[in-house]
Amino acid sequence: MIPASFDYHAPSSVEEALRILGQHDDAKVLAGGQSLIPVLRLRLAAPEVIVDIGRIEELRGVRDDGDALAIGAMTPHHTIESDPLVHEHAKLLALATETVADPQVRHRGTFGGALAHADPAGDLPAPVVALGAEMVIAGSGGRRTVAAADFFEDLFTTALAEDELLVEIRVPKHTGWGAHYEKFTRVSQQWSIVGVAAAVRVEGGSIAEARVGLTNMGSTPVRATAVEQALVGQPATAEAIRSAAAAAAEGTSPPNDANGDADYRRHLATVLTGRAVLAAAGA
Ligand SMILES: Cc1cc2nc3c(=O)[nH]c(=O)nc-3n(C[C@H](O)[C@H](O)[C@H](O)COP(=O)(O)OP(=O)(O)OC[C@H]3O[C@@H](n4cnc5c(N)ncnc54)[C@H](O)[C@@H]3O)c2cc1C
Repeated sequence: MIPASFDYHAPSSVEEALRILGQHDDAKVLAGGQSLIPVLRLRLAAPEVIVDIGRIEELRGVRDDGDALAIGAMTPHHTIESDPLVHEHAKLLALATETVADPQVRHRGTFGGALAHADPAGDLPAPVVALGAEMVIAGSGGRRTVAAADFFEDLFTTALAEDELLVEIRVPKHTGWGAHYEKFTRVSQQWSIVGVAAAVRVEGGSIAEARVGLTNMGSTPVRATAVEQALVGQPATAEAIRSAAAAAAEGTSPPNDANGDADYRRHLATVLTGRAVLAAAGA
């Protein structure tokens, strides 16, 4: 199928993009197009105006900004995967991004696009929430910052208003932390049935700090705080980690679908959390 017709705009600055978005009630932002174009082709959406932000250079790249990395929303997945700053200070993001689709999709798809899309089975929201990132949103009234935990509101729904743009994601540095993203799929290059994002700081053989995020265990990414609390102070051993991981499904509401029912996903969450934390701790 081909999409319904639309007016196409390709602004070269954030200000110009916001002006166009503000002038039209039925406008949609186009980033890498990896999720939006299929939706348009199936006519699940038929916006009158498309605002292609692919030419806005200021939205691309990874910047060292003191205690945090500042990542432009239009930074493609393949840059996140290979960027030395990301590897040094937020390795969890690189590891989760490597599991997204195939190289073609990772060259077109963008970090900000994947987050704005807010697919509960998408692999990037959980690591972003686990690392305590902040989302920088631009609108006609200026810029505002929203914690990642508040950004994801529901299935495919975020704190972004129709006339706003996600411009930057600020990820606190986790230098020296171990990290792992454990993704469970039936076939390769598929969305997560369940995914677990884990980052831990090990000190003297014990877990000093832990961050764990779950993919596809609810309509939004879930922070596994019960596991994080159970891990802190424990020795970085397989036994202690598996015991803490038993709390992984606490407070989750996983979906029932053709890939598995909710109970199966709860079981997966505990097993995969054990594996992810073990790998992150190097145990
Ligand atoms: C075959 C295939 C396999 C895939 N497999 C996976 C997978 O295994 N795991 C995974 O996580 N993802 C997967 N994806 C999705 C991929 O990660 C996409 O990159 C991502 O979902 C959307 O990013 P995009 O840049 O293409 O955004 P687009 O498709 O251009 O936009 C997506 C949505 O976000 C909005 N949007 C985009 N950028 C902004 C912005 N800066 N501000 C405001 N709104 C914005 C758009 O309006 C649209 O609603 C797959 C995609 C394909 C085609």
